[in-house]
Amino acid sequence: DAYLAAIEAANDQLNAYVAVTPEIARKQAAASDERLAKGEGGALEGIPLGIKDLFGTEGVHTQACSHILDGFKPRYESTVTANLFADGAVMLGKLNMDEFAMGSSNETSYYGPVTNPWRRKGDNKALVPGGSSGGSAASVAAHLCAGATATDTGGSIRQPAAFTGTVGVKPTYGRCSRWGVVAFASSLDQAGPITRDVRDAAIMLKSMASVDAKDTTSADIPVPDYEASIGQSVKGMKIGIPKEYRVEGMPQEIEDLWHQGVEWLRDAGAEIVDITLPHTKYALPAYYIVAPAEASSNLARYDGVRYGLREEGKNIIEMYEKTRAAGFGPEVKRRVMIGTYVLSAGYYDAYYLRAQKVRTLIKRDFETVFHEGVDAILTPATPSAAFGVADQDMAADPVKMYLNDIFTVTVNMAGLPGIAVPAGLDGQGLPLGLQLIGKPFDEETLFRTGHIIE
Ligand code: GLN
Repeated sequence: DAYLAAIEAANDQLNAYVAVTPEIARKQAAASDERLAKGEGGALEGIPLGIKDLFGTEGVHTQACSHILDGFKPRYESTVTANLFADGAVMLGKLNMDEFAMGSSNETSYYGPVTNPWRRKGDNKALVPGGSSGGSAASVAAHLCAGATATDTGGSIRQPAAFTGTVGVKPTYGRCSRWGVVAFASSLDQAGPITRDVRDAAIMLKSMASVDAKDTTSADIPVPDYEASIGQSVKGMKIGIPKEYRVEGMPQEIEDLWHQGVEWLRDAGAEIVDITLPHTKYALPAYYIVAPAEASSNLARYDGVRYGLREEGKNIIEMYEKTRAAGFGPEVKRRVMIGTYVLSAGYYDAYYLRAQKVRTLIKRDFETVFHEGVDAILTPATPSAAFGVADQDMAADPVKMYLNDIFTVTVNMAGLPGIAVPAGLDGQGLPLGLQLIGKPFDEETLFRTGHIIE
C-alpha cells in the first residue's frame, strides 16, 4: 500500500509507470502473507517490484511502449516474471521504456519521456533517466518499487542505472530466459535487475535466472547463491583496466571516478593490471548493424493481423503499410530501415557478415585477457552523467545518442555479464556509475567486486 501510494503521488511527474496494477499487487501480497503465516515461502515474499513493459505479463498491459501493440494483453507470462512471482514477488505495474527498447534516454516511448528523479544543483531542468529501461531505473531511484526488471541489448540496464544512482546487472547471455520477453535483437537481449544496492541485485537475479526449455539459448548451468558473494574479499583478484576505454572527450570527472574505483579495489587487496581490448573501437558500429538487422526481422511480425493496432486499407498490403506507418515511432522505423538495408542481397556480406566477424574479434579480445588471469574488468559505465530531456544535440544527430552506449555494447557483443554500480557524484551533484565486466557465467565476481565499490 505504501508503494502504491508513492506511485499515486509521484507518477504524474516522473511518468515511470505506464500501467499500475493494484488489484494484482494486493492479491499477490495477500497470498504471500498466507504463505508466510504457514511458515512457507520463497526468497521474495511480498517484495513489490515494477516490471518493464517489455516483459509479457498474463492479462496485463504489455506493449513495449509502442503504439503498434495497442491494447495487447498476452495470454502468457514471461519465464522471468513467472520465476519472480513463484518466489513471492508482488507486481506493482508496468514500467515505461524506449519503444521496443530502442534508445538511451527513454524519449522514444509512445507514452512520453520518463523524468529522472535527480536534478542538477541549482537547476530545475528535467533530466533523462537513461534508457531503454528508464522507467525501471527512475522508479527504483524514487522508491516507487523495491526493485525492477529490466533488459539490456546494448546497455539498457547499466546506462540508466548509472544515470539514476542505482545498481543494474546485465547477466551473461543465456542466464535468464528470453521467453515471453518482446524481442529486440535476439542474440544480444538479456533480462536483469535494477535495484538500490548490490545485495538486492544478487537476490533478485537469483530468482530471475533459470534454464528454460522454451528458450534454447538459456543455459543449463546451475544458478549459484549470489548473495553469498556479498562481503567476500577481493584479495588477490586481478582487475583489468582497458586502455581503449580512455576515449577522447571523456570528461575529467569520469576519468577521476574511474581512478577512484581503481584505488578502492587496490585498497581492498585486488591487483590492478593494464590490459588491451584492441577491437573496442569497432564495437559500436558493429552493434548498430547487428542490432537493427535482428530488430528488422523480429519486428516483421507486427503486421496489423496478429497483435494490437490495425489501420484498415484497400487490400492487405495497404493495411500492412498503414498499420506499420502509424504504429512505429521514428527511431523504430530508422532501425527497421537500417536493418533491412544491411540484410539485403548484395549488401549482406559487406555489412551484416562483416559485423558478425568483428563481433568474433571483440569476443576474442575478452577471452585473451581472461585467459591471462584477469578476473574482472573495471570501466566507467557511461561517458557522461544524465543529460537534459529534449537535448538539442541528441535530437539533431541520432549518432550522438548512440555514443552513449560506447562502454556498454562490447559486453553484449561478447555475451558477457556486466554490472553498473553507483560510485559517486559529479560536480553538479548527479550520480555517476562504474562498470565491472566478468567472465561468462561469473556474475558472482561482479557482485563481490561491485559491493566494494558501491
Ligand atoms: N541504446 C541502445 C540501443 O538503442 C541499447 C538499447 C538496449 O540495450 N535495449 O540500441
